Amino acid sequence: MNSVTSPDLNSGTRALQRIRPDVRAMHAYAVQPATGVLKMDAMENPFGLPPALQAALGERLGQLALNRYPGARQNDLKAALAAYAGMPEGHSLILGNGSDELISLLALACAQPVDGQRATMLAPMPGFVMYPMSAQLQGLDFVGVDLTADFELDEPAMLAAITKHRPAITYIAYPNNPTATLWDQAVVQRIIDAVGQIGGLVVMDEAYQPFASRSWIANMQAEPERNGHVLLMRTLSKFGLAGVRLGYLMGPSALVGEIDKVRPPYNISVLNCEAALFALEHAQVFAEQAASLRAERERLIAALRAMPGIQHCWDSQANMVLVRVADAGAVFAALKAHKILIKNVSTMHPLLANCLRLTVGSADENAQLLAALQTSL
Ligand SMILES: *Cc1c(COP(=O)(O)O)cnc(C)c1O
Repeated sequence: MNSVTSPDLNSGTRALQRIRPDVRAMHAYAVQPATGVLKMDAMENPFGLPPALQAALGERLGQLALNRYPGARQNDLKAALAAYAGMPEGHSLILGNGSDELISLLALACAQPVDGQRATMLAPMPGFVMYPMSAQLQGLDFVGVDLTADFELDEPAMLAAITKHRPAITYIAYPNNPTATLWDQAVVQRIIDAVGQIGGLVVMDEAYQPFASRSWIANMQAEPERNGHVLLMRTLSKFGLAGVRLGYLMGPSALVGEIDKVRPPYNISVLNCEAALFALEHAQVFAEQAASLRAERERLIAALRAMPGIQHCWDSQANMVLVRVADAGAVFAALKAHKILIKNVSTMHPLLANCLRLTVGSADENAQLLAALQTSL
């Protein structure tokens, strides 16, 4: 006799239950629609490649063997990035599909219970949303330590949290997103020392390095042993290649070698790799763009500070500016009606009440933003 399995016409609904409840409760990361609007919400570089370079890049990409898996060319990119960043001896780097991928790989590599407790990730808050998200998805507990009201690190609170939670991973965004703050070096070093005492890792996230006056690489070069548990994370996104998806993580070779084991072997496409190499060969072009944005940032801040209705405009070491207004929701909506997209961060954290984050654009874009703000406030 044949046994016949009858179809379950509800199988789709039942299969859904196999997806983790915490994932089902999440909202997908919303990329704001941006056709026909001036995009000043995501810290993208407003300058494209000059046409001659565009053509040269197209030529290079057209010659790639797209039928082959990525291979040794990645070693050329690693060497170019190491030279560009000034990687110290005894250090190595790994590549990620944006730093977002590196953030989740690091959480994956560290997700082990210690003394019956889940591993912990610690970061100052408000901070980058991908840190708590990676912790949740990889099963780490996340501890956020509030910044002070002027967005400085709360050193005693950070040190107390490190002693109490013994975090596996501590993230320091240097400069921070969305506050654009480059924190005091001595305070950061004391936090790094405290994490060293409890045997944790520190990630210095330097996504905004092209716009900052200092990099932690100088500390790693000067005191490699003291920073022996420090990883430096960078990305080409804010540098000018957000669409390319290329991040890198550098640190002492032994540590980086372990994290490399959880990386999917072909995570960087031959296109990402070649485009990044091309950009580094023309690093001067990007350096000039960054210099122009730094100058524009100071002009934008000065204009914002002189504008009635801007209650506060913070200093910035990144290509973003944080302001406080009376009614962030209303100003956001008014700018949107002017076809200018910014980021309303006011509900991300209590310290950000009525705050808006503006991306620094070209002179022309900033002028449009200021004019629209003037009528919106
Ligand atoms: C934008 C940003 C990144 C970059 O992420 P990518 O995935 O490389 O684009 C990383 N860290 C911080 C703090 C950022 O703001």
